[in-house]
Amino acid sequence: MELNRERLLELVQKYGAPLYVYDANKIKSQYEKMTTAFSTVKRLKLNYACKANTNLNILKYFKSLGSGLDTVSIQEVELGLMAGFKPKEIIYTPNGVSYAEIKRAIELGVRINIDNLSVLETFGQDFPKYPVCVRINPHIMAGGNANISVGHIDSKFGISIHQLPHIKRVVKNTGLHLDGVHMHTGSDILDIDVFLQGAEILFEVAAEFKNLSYIDFGSGFKVPYYPGADETDIDYLGERLSERFNEFEKAYGKPLTLMFEPGKYMVSEAGMFLASVNVVKQTTSTVFAGIDTGFNHLIRPMFYSAHHEIENISNPEGRSRYYTVVGYICETDTFGSNRKINEISEGDVLCFHNAGAYCFSMASNYNSRFRPAEVLLIDDKDYLIRRRETIQDLIATTEDIKF
Ligand SMILES: *Cc1c(COP(=O)(O)O)cnc(C)c1O
Repeated sequence: MELNRERLLELVQKYGAPLYVYDANKIKSQYEKMTTAFSTVKRLKLNYACKANTNLNILKYFKSLGSGLDTVSIQEVELGLMAGFKPKEIIYTPNGVSYAEIKRAIELGVRINIDNLSVLETFGQDFPKYPVCVRINPHIMAGGNANISVGHIDSKFGISIHQLPHIKRVVKNTGLHLDGVHMHTGSDILDIDVFLQGAEILFEVAAEFKNLSYIDFGSGFKVPYYPGADETDIDYLGERLSERFNEFEKAYGKPLTLMFEPGKYMVSEAGMFLASVNVVKQTTSTVFAGIDTGFNHLIRPMFYSAHHEIENISNPEGRSRYYTVVGYICETDTFGSNRKINEISEGDVLCFHNAGAYCFSMASNYNSRFRPAEVLLIDDKDYLIRRRETIQDLIATTEDIKF
């Protein structure tokens, strides 16, 4: 979590606050950490799960690294195409979308991942030649928070492993071309052994189909949210899974690509969110630092009880004191309670860490606030990749009727 405070303060001077700043070098090093961990696998493809951060320039940056794209809506598919990804470099993994959206994805020529048996059957009848992947739910629990753990037995995601006979029947009846199998069990994976159990289940499924070209192990890798926090041990996962994958590929007898679709792992730590302090307020129980933002710009602490480190970059040498950092929304919006932070004065700039994933992409205009600007740092040169909104943006889609 190296950051140059002076540089960040300069960016706030230049672009204003609140501001999202992303460090391209960190994105690149995360990408390379994964490719290195799996370097013994002949065909590895990482598909960046773009819902974590959909800025077009971030997508283009991933394209330049050689990444593919994992998408969950037809709009993300279209953004990916705009960013220059070829259709075959994009995987569309919808859950509960309309069949019309799936047909649109076929028109656009992207890879499709289906997670529902009745859709699979319809799809097989309509498009028997179009290669398709199935999302298997292996019913493992490797993840964290209930909202982000999607592999358990009563999860809405995937086709249950217990329905494998039914998948086989659909494939046989419709003659559909199954070219991939997939799992994604949720976020914040810590237990590699549990993950590997899921992988074994996926290998068992894969062995049942003869025309696969890839196995997609999804994502959900955990990144540290504070110094010393746990994270997924990618090197260990790489070592263990690569060995098993290479073994399986040999037994399978055909070349297979190993795929992953990391979102958070790629961009979380690259992001910093900078906000200035409007008020410091003593109450009977705490000292509040009220900042010029709220859950409209960064909802993870309130939505997932996520922890984001908060640092006072204006006064890094100041005495540490305890603060409750809150937003300006007219509802409780606490970013952090009882945090030890270098003494805060009004006008100081606070930096939130791990702000690259699921932060701007979940931002809204609640309270009719503008969404922040975004800046990408490439080798320390700053590029504005999204300007701050204006009042015109807020009314751009509203019709003006006369009363
Ligand atoms: C959200 C999502 C991902 C990315 O998850 P992270 O925890 O951000 O790595 C990958 N695959 C699918 C299908 C997803 O829905």
